[in-house]
Amino acid sequence: MPELPEVETTLRGIKPHLLGQTVIGVDIRHYQLRWPIPSNLNQLLSQQTIQELSRRGKYLLFTTDTGTLILHLGMSGRLHLLSNMTAPQKHDHVDIRFANHCLRFTDPRRFGALLWTTDVSTHSLLTRIGPEPLTTAFNGEYLWEQARRRKMPVKSFIMDSHVVAGVGNIYATEALFEAQIKPQTAAGKISLIKYQRLVAAIKMILNKAIQQGGTTLKDFMRSDGTPGYFSIELQAYGRGNLPCMRCQRILKFIRIGQRSTVYCANCQG
Ligand SMILES: [Zn+2]
Repeated sequence: MPELPEVETTLRGIKPHLLGQTVIGVDIRHYQLRWPIPSNLNQLLSQQTIQELSRRGKYLLFTTDTGTLILHLGMSGRLHLLSNMTAPQKHDHVDIRFANHCLRFTDPRRFGALLWTTDVSTHSLLTRIGPEPLTTAFNGEYLWEQARRRKMPVKSFIMDSHVVAGVGNIYATEALFEAQIKPQTAAGKISLIKYQRLVAAIKMILNKAIQQGGTTLKDFMRSDGTPGYFSIELQAYGRGNLPCMRCQRILKFIRIGQRSTVYCANCQG
């Protein structure tokens, strides 16, 4: 699943090619994604110039003079930037055409979304998202304050987009390992000092992944137009029943809120 670093890398990959460009037309081959694509999206976007391209959580925002296209990659979505039109394949649901490029949305599982709003500041998907994890608004004091009297496991707590935007399963697992915090501990039971450590770990790991993504940006316009997706060296995620890289004991595999979770019962207290 694309997580925040992949969305950020996608943004950095497409932004220089699309900013200031005018949409020629939108071809929609499949309207049924997580929510239906507005049937008039072609009329809404045609002849509109992309004035701003940004990210909020895992939502990409294409802002024009008349409104904003909200795009989410869902579980399996990809954006490809094509410099010459190649015939669409089965899962290529949407093409946004510009003078020199075509932005193609591919999504085999169709949990992605393309929505239109005239006021992004009041859109229901965006108004309740917590602070961006890489801003100063996301800090140990903030997280500790939000956790007061919360009984849910700390891992579910930091994966709640109302608490902080875009920390998914991989990065939550890795950050808790890095900060040496047991993922099933009730959020309200964790000290301020531990939350400061956890925030530092989340920022460090996301930055590392974004940096690594940055090294693949030059490949964004390869023949297939796909960003080089990437993975940081994972210390916990996907390593259940393997030795802990810190203490060599066997990592435990459990489920928290239906999500696979790996941790070291020795290092993470
Ligand atoms: Zn360990």
